[in-house]
Amino acid sequence: MATASTGLVALLGDPVSHSVSPAIHAAGIAALGLDLTYLAFRVAPANLHTAVEGLWALGAVGANVTIPHKRAVARLVTERSDAVAATGSANTLVRTATGWRAETTDGEGFLRPLDAASLNGAPAVVLGAGGAARAVVHALATQTGVAAIHVAARRAEQAQSLVHGLAPHIGTVTLTAGSMREAGPAIHPARLLVNATPIGTGDAGATPWADVSLFHPALTVYDLVYRPAETRLLQDARAAGATVIGGLPMLVAQAAASFRLWTGRRLPLDAALAAAEHALAP
Ligand code: NAP
Repeated sequence: MATASTGLVALLGDPVSHSVSPAIHAAGIAALGLDLTYLAFRVAPANLHTAVEGLWALGAVGANVTIPHKRAVARLVTERSDAVAATGSANTLVRTATGWRAETTDGEGFLRPLDAASLNGAPAVVLGAGGAARAVVHALATQTGVAAIHVAARRAEQAQSLVHGLAPHIGTVTLTAGSMREAGPAIHPARLLVNATPIGTGDAGATPWADVSLFHPALTVYDLVYRPAETRLLQDARAAGATVIGGLPMLVAQAAASFRLWTGRRLPLDAALAAAEHALAP
C-alpha cells in the first residue's frame, strides 16, 4: 500500500496503455517488498519536457521512456551514458544529485538471451533501422566480437543514416546498409539475423523475411517482437533448424537492467516473466 514516503518510478509514452512494463515492475516491487510504485503516464510529445521536469520536481526515483520519446528525452537530461551518447536514444532516466542521467538498457536486454560466443565473430544482419535497431547494432558492435553488421531497412537511407551515426562509436566493426528487399546476399553468410521492425506484431502471418531458403541450423534468428511469443519468422526459422530467440526474454532483461539502476536490486526474474506472460495473454 502506498504511503507518504512511497517512491515513484514513471513510464512516459504515447500511447502507453498497451505496455507490459508496469506489470513487470509491479511484480518485482511486490516480490521484494519495496516502498516504490511504478505508474504509466500518457505524455504527448509537446509535453515531454514539462513531464520530465515535473517528475524531477516531484522527487521521482526514475523513469522509463518509450515510443515516441526515446530520442527526444536524450536531449533533455544533464548526463548521458556512453550508449545513449552513441545511439541518441534512451529508455531509462536515473535520478542523480544534479539532474536526470539517461541510460539505455535495450542493448543489455538484447544481449542477455544471446549466446554471443556461438556467433564466433561471424557477420550479423539487422532488419529495421529505428531506435531498437540502433541499440542492437551498438550492443553487437561493442560487446560481442561480431566483425561485420549489415543493417537493412525498407528505406535504405534510414539504414544508411543509422550506420553513419554509429560508425564513430564502434571501433573497427564493419557496418553496411541497404534495403530490406536486397538483404539476401548479406543474410547468406550471416550467423545472426535480428528483426528490429514491428512486422509480425499481433499478426501471425506477417514476416519481415519470407525467403526461408536462407535459414539453416547454424543461424540464430532473433525477433524483438514479443506479441505473439513465437512469430511466423521464428516458426519458419525453427522449421529450418535455426536457433530462435523471441522478444520476451529481452523485454524482461531490459526491465531488469532498469530496475537495478533505480533500486540497486535484482529484479526477481520468475515473478517478472510470469507477470509479463500474464499481461500479454490474449
Ligand atoms: P521504431 O523506432 O519505430 O523503428 C521501427 C523500424 O521498423 C523502422 O526502421 C521502420 O521503418 C521499420 N518498419 C516499421 N514498419 C515496417 C514495415 N511494415 N515494413 C518494413 N519496415 C518497417 O521502433 P523500435 O523502437 O525500433 O521498435 C521496433 C520493434 O522492436 C517493435 O516491434 C518493438 O516493440 C520491438 N522492441 C522490442 C523490445 C524488447 O524488449 N523485446 C525492445 C525494443 C523494441 P520506417 O521508419 O520506414 O517506418
